[in-house]
Amino acid sequence: MSKKQISHLSLIFFIILIFCQCTVLDQSFGRISSKENIQKEEIYVIKNVNIIPMTMESKIISNATVIIKNKKIFSINQPVPDKAKIINGKGKWLIPGLIDMHVHNLADINLSSSYPTKGATIFTDTQDFMLLYVVNGVTTAFELNARVEHFGQRNEILKGNLYGPRMALAMLIDGGEGSGNKANTAADGRQTVRMAKAQGYEFVKVYAHLNVETYKAIVDEASKQGMKVVGHIPDVFKGHIDDAFVPNFAMVAHAEEYAKQSEDFTDQDAQYYAKITKANGTWFTPTLTTMEWILSQSRSLEGVRNLSSLKYVHPLIQSRWLYSNSYNQESTTGRIRYFEKMVEFNMRLVKAFKEAGVPIVAGTDAGNPGVVWGFSLHDEIELLVKAGLSPEEALVSATRLPAIWLGIEDKIGTVEVGKYADLVLLDANPLQDIRNTRKIAGVFLNGKWIDKKIMDSMLSAVAERNTANKNKYDWKKRMNFE
Ligand SMILES: [Zn+2]
Repeated sequence: MSKKQISHLSLIFFIILIFCQCTVLDQSFGRISSKENIQKEEIYVIKNVNIIPMTMESKIISNATVIIKNKKIFSINQPVPDKAKIINGKGKWLIPGLIDMHVHNLADINLSSSYPTKGATIFTDTQDFMLLYVVNGVTTAFELNARVEHFGQRNEILKGNLYGPRMALAMLIDGGEGSGNKANTAADGRQTVRMAKAQGYEFVKVYAHLNVETYKAIVDEASKQGMKVVGHIPDVFKGHIDDAFVPNFAMVAHAEEYAKQSEDFTDQDAQYYAKITKANGTWFTPTLTTMEWILSQSRSLEGVRNLSSLKYVHPLIQSRWLYSNSYNQESTTGRIRYFEKMVEFNMRLVKAFKEAGVPIVAGTDAGNPGVVWGFSLHDEIELLVKAGLSPEEALVSATRLPAIWLGIEDKIGTVEVGKYADLVLLDANPLQDIRNTRKIAGVFLNGKWIDKKIMDSMLSAVAERNTANKNKYDWKKRMNFE
């Protein structure tokens, strides 16, 4: 057979395969939709609420009536339908659900030796974990080192089996040896990107050890595949950072990617980095809170130990942060001094980038020691204000702007009719004091209302379970789980 005949045959086979799959899918869709039909459609109305829409005009709509139907914002200041569940919004403030643009989520994992048929050895209760986002009004998260388990979690949330945020998933590609997705030639880089696309990833994350040609090939191939690239500036660009700013390098994942390039942390350096970033159309996620935590832990572990949200963290991770903390154990006076300079320079970077007009988005690098999922986004927003953003700009960085970068601004990111009802109801005005984003009265998650009482009781149950399981998990013995 000629090559052409073979490809014809495989095309026919492919069509048959798709046809068979469709039949199966149709049947399962039938089951799911009939189940959904039984569930009553819920209509909510929030009365007398002050809306901070986070649109470009961003005019506060006072004393408004918001109707939520079929998961979406159905109307603002229109007649209220019968049988709507009423939420009293008097004296309260409605903002879009928050978005964390840099997270690392816990998911089931095998940390011991493997064999065929072996699954995970350490399990995550997805609801216990995702609750940390929900109670903090974080309704979308960007996972920057996704694996297959994260796709599973995303589907469980979408099915409505548990409360959790929407999730965007990036595949991390690094250079060098070892585990994970590694590419050390341009051809391998391109193939890894195509594989990421085929597996369903929406974004690519580049990492520190890529060489120049592989990095450039990855960013270029991702562009061809319609995938934006986010990440580190590979170490190899030290001294010629401008060379890393190629088209489709769409977001820098940390302020320290720049700080690491600077010899003496001058304002001129900060302005230069802002200029080349702006010229390339690249966005910026400073992750200020992570560097603050790195500094804090290099001095002492008191901060982590006294963290009020620590009890909500999986006991294995608590053990890692407290008893296998490399920032603390490998600390020296010189390192502490260096981190102090970094923390201070990061703040000046944010200011310079703001002045240059680089879009800044809020991300936390949650999952790093001390950086607790959900809770940390409020720390980050507060730090952005400390660095020179107005409270409104800081809120934009955690709502409208990330939605635009992710390409879902027609779905979420503002409080507007037609958008999905991902909303946070606050007891006080965050534009007056940014710390008010923490005063959450309730959250709408994909059109479903969860009030504070429910969130609080779920949260204390998580703390209880974690405390009860504490002795079962020791990070140093993580390889022993069978
Ligand atoms: Zn990260």
